[in-house]
Parts: sequence; structure tokens; C-alpha cells
Amino acid sequence: MIRRFEDKVALVTGAASGIGRATSLRFAEEGAKVFCVDLQAEEVERTAKSAAEIGAEAQAHVCDVADPQAAAACVQACVDRFGRLDVLCNVAGILRFDYFQDLDLDDWNRILAVNLTGTFLMCRAAIPHLLDSGGNIVNTSSTSALAGLAYGAAYGASKAGVLALTRSIAVEYAAPGLRANAVCPGSILTPMTSGGAGLPEKVDPKLIRRAMAIDKPRGPETVAGVIAMLASEDGAHINGEEIRVDGGTLA
Ligand code: NAP
Repeated sequence: MIRRFEDKVALVTGAASGIGRATSLRFAEEGAKVFCVDLQAEEVERTAKSAAEIGAEAQAHVCDVADPQAAAACVQACVDRFGRLDVLCNVAGILRFDYFQDLDLDDWNRILAVNLTGTFLMCRAAIPHLLDSGGNIVNTSSTSALAGLAYGAAYGASKAGVLALTRSIAVEYAAPGLRANAVCPGSILTPMTSGGAGLPEKVDPKLIRRAMAIDKPRGPETVAGVIAMLASEDGAHINGEEIRVDGGTLA
């Protein structure tokens, strides 16, 4: 494995599971010190332990990224622990499906709060440190930001917001050398897609099929590798970009 992140510090949210876990371990394999953040205390600890077994310095941290104080304290805890921050990966996210007419305002607000506001809060807290280190941001959007996801209006809206947020940061901070990019995964096998977010009854299967992989679904490592590329010097001239990692489903 190439080691593009020797002496670098990566903070990864959603690190207890799926893509965030795979991303934490990818950074660990490539030499980074990893600050693993999630709501799930036991599982994020397990990720940090696995990163340490690979030989990385790793720290688990429990945080609700949608909580402004907690998000700011989380970034500060990372810098206190490792002395710097080079890469922020916002991977934490939630998904639920509802018929649009049944979409509850509380559910809409929570999805926007975690997926979009959480990404904003973590970026806002991290940017001063990333400017100091010459670092960068990789946010996690979704193919649902690029093509309509039936029964997923709140989720799709939150993920489209992540793309706009990412591009705005990219433009605003290009001159001082801070890059911000996004990945748009689709059909990645994780707890989120294997039953966690159930569909309502009697959905139209045609509308579900159009969002499903045309190739076979892949594991979260496939997204982690793209995140690592964007965050590394290999991505030095990529800024404000979104990369679909969906096996060609939306091509
Ligand atoms: P996952 O396995 O469910 O992992 C997401 C992790 O984020 C979970 O540990 C989750 O904890 C945590 N989390 C949720 N809300 C949080 C909060 N407020 N603060 C901190 N952590 C929080 O899902 P995944 O499939 O790896 O998804 C990772 C990201 O990729 C998400 O942003 C998702 O929207 C995006 N994505 C995934 C796919 C896919 O096909 N899997 C496709 C497109 C986009 P809980 O278990 O407590 O919720």
C-alpha cells in the first residue's frame, strides 16, 4: 500500500460503520494518524482499535455532528490530541424512506441536520486548522443528489446541499490553497443499505430499480480509495469536484 499520509492527521466522521470505517482504515494503512468520530461509542472504538492494529495512531471520539458545540469540540479534541489537522472527511449520514406526503417535518429536519448541517458545522470548525496545514476536505454526497430518489426527498435534498456547500468552500478557499471535494456513492454494501433504512409498504419497484447498481454492488473500500485519492497529493489539482462511485449506474 502506498503511504500518502505519513505525518498527516485525518478526521473521519461516521467512522463506526460502513464507508466511514473503511475510510478510517484506508488512511491508517496509508500512514495517517486517524481521529475516528461517530455517535456509536463501542463501534467507533472498534474502528480505532483496528486502525491501531494496522500500526496507526488512532483515537475514537463520540460526537453528534449535528450539535454545533459538539462539532466544534470534536475538531478541537482532534487538534489537541494530534497537534494538527490535514484532512476532514465528512462521512456520517442517515437515510430514511417515506412517501413524500408522509414525510414528517421532524424527520426532514433531522436528516438535514445530520447530513447537511453536520457537514457544514464540521467544515466550519476545521477550516482554520486546514488552512494552517495546507489540508483539504472530502464530503460525502450521494447519487441521490444527481438523480431523483423516490421516497427519499429529504435525503436527496440534504445530499444536493452537500454538493453546493462543497463547491462554495472550494471556490472561496482556492486561493489560500484549501481544496474541498465530494464523493457521490451509489449501491455500496453497508449497514445503511442492507436493511437499516426500510422502504414504506407498496412502493413501486420500477422507481427503486432505477437507483440500483447496473453492475454488482461493491463494498465501502471502493469509496474509501476514492476519498483517499482526493485527499492526497494525487488530487492536488482537483477542487470543487464530485466523483460518482456507483459502478456506472448514473452514467
Ligand atoms: P452507515 O454504515 O450507516 O454509517 C454511517 C455512520 O454514521 C453510522 O455509524 C451512524 O451512526 C453515523 N452517524 C449517523 N448520524 C450521526 C451523527 N449525527 N453524528 C455522528 N455520526 C453519525 O452508512 P454508510 O453506507 O457507510 O454511509 C456513509 C455515508 O455515505 C453517508 O453519508 C451516506 O449518506 C453516504 N452514502 C452511502 C451510500 C451507500 O450506498 N451505502 C450511497 C450514497 C451515499 P448510527 O448507526 O447511529 O446512525
